[in-house]
Amino acid sequence: MHTLIIPPQIFKEMIAHCREGYPKEACGILAGKGNMISRIYKMVNIEDSTVSYMLDPQRQFEVMKEMRKNNMEMVAIFHSHSSSAAYPSAKDVSLAFYEGSAYIIVSLAEKEPVAKAFSIREGEVKEIKIIEPNNLSNYPKSTLSSLK
Ligand SMILES: [Zn+2]
Repeated sequence: MHTLIIPPQIFKEMIAHCREGYPKEACGILAGKGNMISRIYKMVNIEDSTVSYMLDPQRQFEVMKEMRKNNMEMVAIFHSHSSSAAYPSAKDVSLAFYEGSAYIIVSLAEKEPVAKAFSIREGEVKEIKIIEPNNLSNYPKSTLSSLK
C-alpha cells in the first residue's frame, strides 16, 4: 500500500472524533477495499488515556464481522496523539499486530490537526501518502466513482 484514499466526509469525521476525545487519545477503524476507505467505525479507547489507546476487543470483533459480511477489509486503524507528533510511538510500533492494515495517527498537538498514515511491519515504519481530501479532483474519475 503506497497511498490511502479517504473521502472528505470520512476524513472530517475522523478528525472530529479525535477532537471530541481530546485530551484523551481517540481511536477507530477505517473500512473499505484495497487502499480505498468507504466507512468509518468510531471506537472507544478502553485505556481512557492521554498517552495510549486500545480498541475495545468485543466491539472490534463485531466490527470485523460486519466488515466481512459487507465484503470490506480493515484498511486502517486510526488514533490520535494529544501532545505528540503524527508518528507512531514505540508502543504503537510494538502493538501493531495488523500488518495488512495502515496505521493513521492524527496529531492534535498543533493548532491544525495533522494526519499521517504508516505501514508498520516487523518494527519497520514507512509512511503511506494519504490522498488529500481536497485534492480528489486531481485523481482520475474512475478512482472517484469507486469511492461512492
Ligand atoms: Zn500512538
